[in-house]
Amino acid sequence: MFRILAERLKQGSRTLDWPRKEPALSPRYRGRPELADTACGDCRACYAACPAGALFTRADAPGRTPLLDMARCIFCGACAEVCPEGAIRFSRDYRVAAASREGLLVGPRAAGGEGAGGAPADPAALMGDRFRLFRRSLKLREVSAGGCNACEADTNVLGTLVYDLGRFGIEFTASPRHADGLVVTGPVTRNMCAALVDTWAAVPRPRLLVAVGACAISGGLFREAPECLGGLGGTAGDTGPGAPAVADTLTEAGLTPDIYVPGCPPNPWSILAGILALRGEGRPLIPDWTLSVGPGQTIVRG
Ligand code: SF4
Ligand code: SF4
Repeated sequence: MFRILAERLKQGSRTLDWPRKEPALSPRYRGRPELADTACGDCRACYAACPAGALFTRADAPGRTPLLDMARCIFCGACAEVCPEGAIRFSRDYRVAAASREGLLVGPRAAGGEGAGGAPADPAALMGDRFRLFRRSLKLREVSAGGCNACEADTNVLGTLVYDLGRFGIEFTASPRHADGLVVTGPVTRNMCAALVDTWAAVPRPRLLVAVGACAISGGLFREAPECLGGLGGTAGDTGPGAPAVADTLTEAGLTPDIYVPGCPPNPWSILAGILALRGEGRPLIPDWTLSVGPGQTIVRG
């Protein structure tokens, strides 16, 4: 008995003192991409290497560094490896969540300058008081809408003592009727569409929606599969064959995410930071400042 107590005292608290102390990430971890503005000419090595179709040519600068769409990116790093100009690199910043689908488009920084539009926004300013109600208590229901279970695993792990989600007043609940919002993973398969819409309808208002992972945002690697509806943040080209009608169903049901956490799967710290940012807490999240094409401007698929 005394030995057990002594051992527990020796171990101390296993819960990481986050966000005061930054987490120890794997040396292989790839966080938010950083692009330098270079003249690529006809080199399309990164486009050819990308398995996710996540790189886009800028209509206003076709011969320069492409845009990187974190909504599709699986953070494999292949583009960075093949780029002879070293124009693409991945930082260690795990705070990658964005408040809009467009906010996940990362543009190159001008040489020596900041990203287009200035510095990242303060979540409190960006989200306003919309979700202030949930600051002390937030109950979430998770819906796996056809995911491979990796996003689900990285969401589940938030309940372990290392992350200790409960200390932020956040809990996962079994019933949508007891929830303040949904966390959706997976590309939204045809078979899961009705269940997802019904679950969302059962969540009382006000409610919030969190899209976790490339699949939930854009369909990820499965977006062109016939059974995949292209996730919740679908834009043109992000939906599978026959999907638009069902995608309309998702939109009509109000299934528009309030926060998008990219990755395949996202790091658990990215998910936690995203949910806190949604409540207006934590360090800056990625707002629309990453977008280097204006609204209405076109991007060309790589
Ligand atoms: S890191 Fe992302 S953009 Fe680069 S090749 Fe992989 S999926 Fe494509
Ligand atoms: S985003 Fe990646 S990890 Fe998450 S469900 Fe899709 S394939 Fe799996």
